[in-house]
Amino acid sequence: MKKQEKIIVVGAGLCGSLLGLRLAQLGYTVTMIERRPDLRKVEQTAGRSINLALSNRGFAALEIAGMKEVALEIGIPMYGRMLHDPQGETYLSPYSGRENMSIFSTSRTHLNQLLLEAADKEENTTLIFDHTCTEIDFDNRIITIEDNNTGKKETISADYIFGTDGAGSVIRENMFEQGLMDYHDFQKLSHGYKELHFPPLSGDQYAIEKNALHIWPRKDFMLIALPNPGGSFTVTLFLAHEGAVNSFEALDGPDKIEAFFKENFADAFEIMPNLQDLFETNPTSILGTMKCSPWLAKDRVLIMGDAAHAMVPFYGQGMNAAFEDVLVFDNVLVQCDGNLEKAFAMFEEKRHADAASICELSLDNFKEMQADTADPDFLRKRQIEMELEGSDSVAYYSKYSLVTFREDLTYSNALRRGRAQDQAILSLLKEGALTEEMTVQEKYDLIEERTLVLLQDLK
Ligand SMILES: Cc1cc2nc3c(=O)[nH]c(=O)nc-3n(C[C@H](O)[C@H](O)[C@H](O)COP(=O)(O)OP(=O)(O)OC[C@H]3O[C@@H](n4cnc5c(N)ncnc54)[C@H](O)[C@@H]3O)c2cc1C
Repeated sequence: MKKQEKIIVVGAGLCGSLLGLRLAQLGYTVTMIERRPDLRKVEQTAGRSINLALSNRGFAALEIAGMKEVALEIGIPMYGRMLHDPQGETYLSPYSGRENMSIFSTSRTHLNQLLLEAADKEENTTLIFDHTCTEIDFDNRIITIEDNNTGKKETISADYIFGTDGAGSVIRENMFEQGLMDYHDFQKLSHGYKELHFPPLSGDQYAIEKNALHIWPRKDFMLIALPNPGGSFTVTLFLAHEGAVNSFEALDGPDKIEAFFKENFADAFEIMPNLQDLFETNPTSILGTMKCSPWLAKDRVLIMGDAAHAMVPFYGQGMNAAFEDVLVFDNVLVQCDGNLEKAFAMFEEKRHADAASICELSLDNFKEMQADTADPDFLRKRQIEMELEGSDSVAYYSKYSLVTFREDLTYSNALRRGRAQDQAILSLLKEGALTEEMTVQEKYDLIEERTLVLLQDLK
């Protein structure tokens, strides 16, 4: 049913395009403003996370807009982390002990294109590309947009405005500058990233296992690779920005780059014919965590997705969380009987703690992916968790599974339980209390008992 309210969505990236689509489906008149040219018509520039891991929370949000199936069609399932040690040996650490649990390597551009296409088909949407929002008048809900080609400025007004303009959000920065935010903090990570590439072998053959997320964990840095359709992989090097060794600063010439890759990622080096070109051409980008509040200004302007809670990418949840924002907003709107002003106020109440939790978990996983994945205690813990998850007689979910596969739980609950379980297993292992002879049920009971005690202490 057509609604009276006019809504502007600033930023038609992943979050904004899904949000715009959903709001249009609900009957609102939606204008979407996007800084980049129309993705459906131009080629993507290289070097900006070409593929992303899409998982249950993202799918649940896509489903309400009828986009789950099309997203599944373009994704490549990854069933676990394939760990590459310095000698070139590989070890598959499944994401779950349950069969067929996977996350999906998905092209950012393709998914965004599909969402824009669907939004464009709704009769009550207007999509404006190649225009940058430069200013916002919060009292009157008027934005200024600038045509990127001509520099011409114009203003547009609406009843409600969403800022889904990503980590560098202009809407958020305007809120902060105009004194509408109490708290605003970007914590830059010591490490940055650079995108690289494994081309297909002959035809569209994959040089390494297709259905896995590959990791070369090396304590202070790591390389990861996610599969693309057609046999290639998008490869990302995470490395400290500064430092005399093992840093982007230190890799200041082709010889040093080659020596660094040969020493640390010899098997990957063999399948990277364009390493030097890509290293030089692709940018070194920063990573960080954005914490700010409130997300709501003057009752009718709300930020979402990375604009509100950009996080480091080590749980593969930034996009999933941004999509889940749309789902949470949708639920809140129902709870508020379609009253947008009430929903705007309630959204942040419902979502803030969860966003903070996934930001924290993502930082935790930075350490885990670099180092602990190769650590014997970590491997032993994973083994036990796989055994428990693989058994029908107990209902166990590891922290990773709680975050990734249990979209029915909030991030905050996944964090609390997941951390308590981790602590329980590691302490029981240290005490020698978990032995090979024990049955799955006995192990589960012992872990659950310790977890509940730890959860009590956390209250
Ligand atoms: C290396 C890396 C790997 C990642 N891997 C994963 C992963 O595996 N899984 C996962 O879930 N997440 C991952 N993420 C996180 C994910 O990319 C982000 O969380 C997600 O893109 C957030 O979506 P968004 O729509 O909020 O922001 P964005 O995708 O950044 O979209 C913002 C949009 O707003 C537009 N815009 C910006 N400013 C303006 C303006 N002033 N006016 C108009 N338009 C504007 C931009 O052009 C863009 O289209 C990764 C991130 C990085 C950096």
